[in-house]
Amino acid sequence: MISPRPERPALDLTALFTGEGANEAESEDDLVPARMLNEFTYCPRLAYLEWVQGEFRDNLETKEGTFGHRNVDRPTVKSFAAPSDYPDEEPPPVGLTGDSLAARALMLSAPSEGLLGKLDLIELTGRTAVPIDYKRGSVPDVPYQAWEPERVQLCAQGLILRANGYDCDHGELYYIESRRRIRVDFDDVLVARTRQLVGDLRHMAATRQIPPPLVDSPKCPRCSLVSICLPDETNCLRESADLPAESSNSGKVRKLLPARDDGLPLYVQDQGTYIGKDGERLKLTPVKSAPLFVPLIQVSQVCLLGNVQITAATIRELADRNIPISHFSYGGWFTAVTTGLSHKNVELRMAQSRAAFDPQASLQIARGFIAAKIKNSRTLLRRHADEKYKPDLDRLADYIQKVDRVDNLDSLMGLEGMAAKVYFAGFARLIRGGEEFRLAGRNRRPPTDPVNALLSFVYALLVKELTITLQAVGFDPFLGFLHQPRYGRPSLALDLAEEFRPLVGDSTVLTLINNEEVSPKSFISRAGSVALTEPGRKAVIAAYERRLETEITHPIFGYKISYRRLFEVQSRLLSRVLLGELDQYPGFCTR
Ligand code: SF4
Repeated sequence: MISPRPERPALDLTALFTGEGANEAESEDDLVPARMLNEFTYCPRLAYLEWVQGEFRDNLETKEGTFGHRNVDRPTVKSFAAPSDYPDEEPPPVGLTGDSLAARALMLSAPSEGLLGKLDLIELTGRTAVPIDYKRGSVPDVPYQAWEPERVQLCAQGLILRANGYDCDHGELYYIESRRRIRVDFDDVLVARTRQLVGDLRHMAATRQIPPPLVDSPKCPRCSLVSICLPDETNCLRESADLPAESSNSGKVRKLLPARDDGLPLYVQDQGTYIGKDGERLKLTPVKSAPLFVPLIQVSQVCLLGNVQITAATIRELADRNIPISHFSYGGWFTAVTTGLSHKNVELRMAQSRAAFDPQASLQIARGFIAAKIKNSRTLLRRHADEKYKPDLDRLADYIQKVDRVDNLDSLMGLEGMAAKVYFAGFARLIRGGEEFRLAGRNRRPPTDPVNALLSFVYALLVKELTITLQAVGFDPFLGFLHQPRYGRPSLALDLAEEFRPLVGDSTVLTLINNEEVSPKSFISRAGSVALTEPGRKAVIAAYERRLETEITHPIFGYKISYRRLFEVQSRLLSRVLLGELDQYPGFCTR
């Protein structure tokens, strides 16, 4: 390890804001990583999302960057010239014996500058240090042959080396694709700019003000956090709030998110199956048949139904990869989720708690869920409607109007209950399955007829999906606004499920029955309760997953997106409301 040579430079209280010592940190936690300075220079919001909210997501560019750094990510110190005398006035740093050395992946801090950083490579000759930072891609055709964020990051590394007693007047950027080094001089202008940015970044973090998204920026399509930031969507909703109701901003929203996920859920319901890990694959060993292998890279979540075993090593591997495990009872009740440690977004959890304990804030958000639910229920009936549905549609339209007028959560729940009664009476008429599939009303715990058994299981799948999505976004899924917290109940997932029950849950059930994907043989009846058989559950899971993969046109943003992706977008929009970026939760409604 390289140890500091001189004592730390004294803090100069007369320094200007951008001068030496102006950014001195009070504790190690306040130190700004040099890499974060790069992000901040690229886009302040990106640095906020990563540094303050703890967000991270890989994209192609970050994966290429990690790959390009593989040779400099292991800490080493290596002599690459004949040893010679080290300056007399200073003992050689521990482990260094020559006057020309290469040190890789060294973590150094400089509290006087408010900085710390992991330096890819430092070339040392005597007391002179040159930081070399590895960059993916080729030398850019811009002034200085380097982008500003990269020059600033390198300069921060130079300041760290100076504060640790080294002479450092320049650094080099090594562009992996071009295999070329570009020299960056740490002149006064660059040093002042770097210190200014360190101060600005720390001010942003201290005041906890998330910067607004960039507007129509070419940086966003290349940004790894675009699907978390939702720049165009956030700008569109903020601007729409200022426009007359009939105007639309949707034309300004670029489609920057992938329409669907790469990985898919793995459901295991063969009773007695044993799940282990085999290298980069999951190994599923059923009781009566040969093992199956599933590449981990293709799995987005694992759902275990009933008596399925999974090894501790596999649970750890899945947690490390952020792949949640959902647990269901044999009867289809969603009972638990196993994930890695919670998301780091403490800020969002604090905002969620504040709103959940504020009746007016909760009511405002809950109105969005219920208005969207009734609108989507009405749309489902309208799509299949003939004349006899008109009174139901009118009553539902009336309930939608009333949502904004209720002034407490109990009344809102009451309104929702009345709307559900009207809706389910209409929904029952849409089912073409004969007497076995007659629906007399909603019942559960346990369901007493096949349609209710289907609805209960599909709703459990939906709540499972939203629980893990909300958790991944940084929410506490157990703290709701409409559904008040109750032990073991994922109240927030139940809240968000409201607007998707008709679109995902009920329409899956209609498809299953009306397309004869289930029959009376798909159910077993015991002591007045009705449950799905294993083949019945398999058919439901297949239909539900097809539904989640269906792409729909987003009515506000105008692009196509799968329901599964949409769950994440809606969860993130909800987080924007809680963090004060949007005034109102825009529930999702189809046309
Ligand atoms: S998506 Fe755009 S606005 Fe959002 S963090 Fe990235 S660069 Fe900044």
